[in-house]
Amino acid sequence: MTDPTHPRSPRPLDPIFSPHAVAVVGASRRRESLSFRLIHNLVVNEFAGVIFPVNPQASALHSLKCYPTVAAIPDPVDLAVIMVPRDKVQGMVEECVAKGVKGLIVITAGFSETGKEGAALEWRLRETVRAAGVRMIGPNCMGVINTDSEVTLDATFSPTPARRGAIGFVSQSGALGVAILNVAQDIGVGLTQFVSMGNKADVSGNDLIEHWEDDPETKVIAMYLESFGNPRRFTEIAKRVTRKKPILVVKSGRTAEGARAASSHTGAIAGTDVTVSAFLEQCGVLRANTIEEMFDVARALARVPLPSGFRVGIVTNAGGPAIMATDACVNLGLQIAELSDATRATLRSFLPPEASVGNPVDMIASATPENYAKSVAAVLDDPAVDMVMVINVTPVLANPIDVLQSIAAVTRERPKPVLAVMMATEEFYDAVKTQRDLPPVYHFPEPAARVMYLLARYAAWRRRPADRAAPDFATDDARVAEILGEVKDGYLDQAAAFRVLELYGVPVAKWRRVSGRDEVLKAAGEIGYPVVLKAVASDLVHKSEAGAVRVDLRDEEELGAAVAEMDRSVAAAGHAVEGFLVQEMARGGHEVIFGITTDPRFGPLLMFGLGGKYVEVFQDVRFAVTPLDAEEARDVVRGIRGFKLLEGVRGEPGADVDLLVEILLRLAQLSQRHPRIRELDVNPFLAGPDRASARALDARIRVGEPSV
Ligand code: ADP
Ligand code: MG
Repeated sequence: MTDPTHPRSPRPLDPIFSPHAVAVVGASRRRESLSFRLIHNLVVNEFAGVIFPVNPQASALHSLKCYPTVAAIPDPVDLAVIMVPRDKVQGMVEECVAKGVKGLIVITAGFSETGKEGAALEWRLRETVRAAGVRMIGPNCMGVINTDSEVTLDATFSPTPARRGAIGFVSQSGALGVAILNVAQDIGVGLTQFVSMGNKADVSGNDLIEHWEDDPETKVIAMYLESFGNPRRFTEIAKRVTRKKPILVVKSGRTAEGARAASSHTGAIAGTDVTVSAFLEQCGVLRANTIEEMFDVARALARVPLPSGFRVGIVTNAGGPAIMATDACVNLGLQIAELSDATRATLRSFLPPEASVGNPVDMIASATPENYAKSVAAVLDDPAVDMVMVINVTPVLANPIDVLQSIAAVTRERPKPVLAVMMATEEFYDAVKTQRDLPPVYHFPEPAARVMYLLARYAAWRRRPADRAAPDFATDDARVAEILGEVKDGYLDQAAAFRVLELYGVPVAKWRRVSGRDEVLKAAGEIGYPVVLKAVASDLVHKSEAGAVRVDLRDEEELGAAVAEMDRSVAAAGHAVEGFLVQEMARGGHEVIFGITTDPRFGPLLMFGLGGKYVEVFQDVRFAVTPLDAEEARDVVRGIRGFKLLEGVRGEPGADVDLLVEILLRLAQLSQRHPRIRELDVNPFLAGPDRASARALDARIRVGEPSV
């Protein structure tokens, strides 16, 4: 990379990744020690620079001359790997700083991961390196690998080395890092750099993404994360970098975060891991479910071009796997491409008459490597095809490597991705795993389909215009703040909640907030029958359950009786009735839910989904973080599973989708401008075919001190 004809500008992490001289501080002569192992890795992986072990008790180590202190090293040192006991780390770091060392890797554990005392030591370390302008990885990490042939640095104690490749990989967990190097070795995945970042006292995942942003060798950034240090900065960096290269994340704790105690639907659902998924998706980051899937996707991203759409062509020599592939693609939302007549005719011209030339193209078991090449070429050349999955079930005596090579020959000249599902032996996989000029291979159609789906999603993200701004609605925020200010900590009155919505341009069903029977009857007269009656009580959260909602009351008589009954049933449920809400009776339309909740890390979260009784049963909702632009809001609304219902099925009228998108954006603005809103549920919002027929029927807003 340090090509003298194209010198690249130095980057802040260069002393760590590309040092000329490395000191290993706390080097032990015991062969079973981690420090000996690390020096061994530096030596046997042929580090291109000089190694200086530091140990006051030894004169030589692993046939290298040993120095008693860092200061005693006669030459300049770029990088120091610190492996001394915890209480000596601070002193050693200071010694390194004094020596002029520019990069540090602190392997030693016992810092913030162990509690308060460790956290204080870690804080001091950070202050020291930041003051000195030195960059530090760790503490509590496993080290760094750089496979660049000019450097070949393996400053880890991993028993497995890394192979040169196109993936920059960072792991928050050290132990998992070792396991990942093993897996990478097994499946033949190569890396540009490997970083175990430990406690991230100084260098964070964000810094590493920025390091790889303009590194031409790193085609894919892959991360194993347990937490987001600074989600706001991550958003900013990830949104920028994913326009240039993909970022893949495996975030652990998918379910462990668990449900938070929250009374609103939005809050309860948001407590689960969907928050993180929504957040990553909005940043253009691909989330893999497992390490295996991460490598499956990374391999493809490093080798194939991005598809221009979601339409898949399938070419196979066996029917069964093609059906599996079709199912997997359709389930993920990919489309099975419709091949043109011309493509079919071409296929027909050389395939046996028993072959099927629709999509999937089934060439039948007799297919030769040449058949594969010609069929894949024909399908790739069809303008209705965005990418191709080739399936090969090894027939007796045929060599799958020949098949793969003939496919590679035709895919190289065509700018569409081709993935191969090779149902072949492990010998085959061993033979092809390091051949980077072959299409990526998968054992089964399902993982290949999943990879195609993520490629298509990422490509769609890249096609989006950058720098989209959130819209700005004219709203009376002073008035809203005043209403929200009426309650210090807790729920707003129904009337106040509706007023906030109205001030934010959200249509609300006609309502009157009144106190006694006479006022109820008067309000109903003004609104017009039939009406809906609801009891108001400050501690009443789920009104229907307490008999506090009566719909479709057609005249004074029914309404008067309902007031009396409601007084009784609400009191029986243990609530003191403070008054009533009379509403127009709304009919038709689809019940949806809008919600706001606040996450301590991500700030305000917006939610949309099927509302009313559907919320409890299906939890068919999507989340988004703020700021939210129109494109993202549309993704949220269109992204729920039941979106087809909102489009109208079986002659039923659909909902005004543009209005739903607009309301989501208005609520996003509300959440950002009024951080005192802790939770908001509009459930149900009745969505009709146009603006005039859409209205909120129920709203709850909880306010309190802002958490972020
Ligand atoms: P809660 O959610 O506290 O139980 P809601 O005010 O949401 O009470 O009312 C419960 C259900 O009653 C709603 O989901 C809706 O189906 C129906 N409903 C409420 N208000 C109206 C209204 N104004 N017009 C028609 N139906 C209504
Ligand atoms: Mg409700």
